[in-house]
Amino acid sequence: MIPIAKPLIGEEEKKAVMDVLDSGVIAQGPKVKEFEKEFSGFVSASHGIAVNSGTAALHVALLAHGLGVGDEVITSSFSFIATANSILFTGARPVFADVSEDTFNIDPDAINEKISAKTKAILPVHLYGHLADMNAIMELAHDHNLAVIEDACQAHGAKFENKAAGSFGTGCFSFYPTKNMTSSEGGMITTDDEKIALKARMIREHGSRERYVHEILGFNLRMTDIAAAIGLCQLKKLPEFNQRRIENAQYLTNAINNDKIITPIIRDNYKHVFHQYTIRVHESRDKVVEILNKKGIGAGIYYPLLIHQQKLYKDLGYDALLPISEKLTSEVISLPIHPSVTRKDLDYVASVLNDL
Ligand SMILES: *Cc1c(COP(=O)(O)O)cnc(C)c1O
Repeated sequence: MIPIAKPLIGEEEKKAVMDVLDSGVIAQGPKVKEFEKEFSGFVSASHGIAVNSGTAALHVALLAHGLGVGDEVITSSFSFIATANSILFTGARPVFADVSEDTFNIDPDAINEKISAKTKAILPVHLYGHLADMNAIMELAHDHNLAVIEDACQAHGAKFENKAAGSFGTGCFSFYPTKNMTSSEGGMITTDDEKIALKARMIREHGSRERYVHEILGFNLRMTDIAAAIGLCQLKKLPEFNQRRIENAQYLTNAINNDKIITPIIRDNYKHVFHQYTIRVHESRDKVVEILNKKGIGAGIYYPLLIHQQKLYKDLGYDALLPISEKLTSEVISLPIHPSVTRKDLDYVASVLNDL
């Protein structure tokens, strides 16, 4: 079986973890601080705040921006559930806008239609590793005085015109093992705003900036030095990991020559880091996935249900009409292109698809 994802853990990570264990500081300590500095530097953001998951990064970022009961946050339903759940955690209400068909990302015109007096923030997702249309989104945010929180959990190193994911608004990253880089579990918030950074640090740590002095309500969402040590090793390897994903994606696109399949596009001036390589088929998607799986190809569907179609959201009364998202969710198939996938694997995947 060619798996859809595979974390690449080498001797460096193993040694780094052992060093932390030997150091005696195994919870949040100097490695977390170093990881925050290195990762925010990579994104070109002034501050990095490490937390224990991508979900926590979104949750903390929204709270740091003051989101709460009575507020609305416009986001995409074509994403992992954590995107919208993090809004619910704060008491605010997710409002779903439809996506653009070419990039699977939230459509600025659709956002514009959903802006109300209650809207306080836009939460675009850079799905599959391709940035959302951040120029248009930042302009809308500026015109309507809205915060922008980027769900960059699939977009480590993705760029638009040399500006990295997580450097437009407040960036939220995940280091879950299936992502472009991992720390086992882990997450990071990136921002240029000193006040947001300070508040995020406090929320991560029971609302305190000074030990045992608690100013606001917070949580324990800290990253451990064990995770940070892994993250630091992985960050060094990320450019090469991404390059291999990009090359594998390009190779697969060239090798697929079946008219029934739409291969992924990259908009001009974007760097797509291919967290997922996602094709579309207009018919019999589930059957195609079944064939691929039977032939040992770990094809996946991200995501079989839109967020607003999940029971949790139906029970909350969500009944949005998002025709493009609904169409895409019935057509998408993601194929393995992670750094361990070989040319031979890709030739095989393409031959199975071309024979459909
Ligand atoms: C992975 C992911 C998350 C959540 O990250 P975790 O580290 O699993 O909590 C949020 N949004 C998107 C789009 C993701 O892919």
